[in-house]
Amino acid sequence: MTLDWVLTGKIIWCGCLVLWALIRWIPNRRSRKVKIDKTSRTPSERFSMAVSTLGLGIIPAIWVFTGIPGSFDHATNPVVVIIGLLIFAGSLRLFRITHKALGAMWSHSLDLRKGHKLVTTGIYENVRHPMYSAFWLWALAQPFLLSNWIAGFSGIVGFGTLYFLRVGQEEQMMEERFGEEYRQYCARTKRIIPGIH
Ligand code: SAH
Repeated sequence: MTLDWVLTGKIIWCGCLVLWALIRWIPNRRSRKVKIDKTSRTPSERFSMAVSTLGLGIIPAIWVFTGIPGSFDHATNPVVVIIGLLIFAGSLRLFRITHKALGAMWSHSLDLRKGHKLVTTGIYENVRHPMYSAFWLWALAQPFLLSNWIAGFSGIVGFGTLYFLRVGQEEQMMEERFGEEYRQYCARTKRIIPGIH
């Protein structure tokens, strides 16, 4: 019996999504207990969250479960699928570490919580947005795991939209709250890749 690698890629993608939801669910319960002090959920923020959800979740899920749009399917092989698995595994590990580091300060959108503390140590020591690094890894894993051009690349387009629309707004919000402390933190760190960007 030969393994169906298209199906294997789909199963791995679904499994990773379930694990990601579990990694998020526990900190989500914790952070919900701490009231939101100030929110910056602008219309552009809502738009980018919707586009990101479409690209990382809804469009690929439609292809996985219905095969639509089938005309964009392509072949795959074990090496490609295993690379995708390794990248997604790295992404999940990074999600776990960043959630632990942010704890109750985490929010799925642009919010500051009561008594919000700036985290600058551990995984946050060299990069300001390691959770977005984790999302980029997920977006990158998707074309390796899903052998359909649309479902595969929708994550890069979807999360890319959120990242570029949000990251400046988030930094502005943090600078307004933490002032000089945040400016100094920015001066000694990069955004998503240590030492590079
Ligand atoms: N951009 C970060 C966090 C994403 S979660 C990352 O990619 O790791 C988004 C929320 O985290 C924002 O609403 C903000 O309130 C909070 N946040 C971002 N950076 C933070 C930091 N260094 N310390 C504490 N909270 C932070």
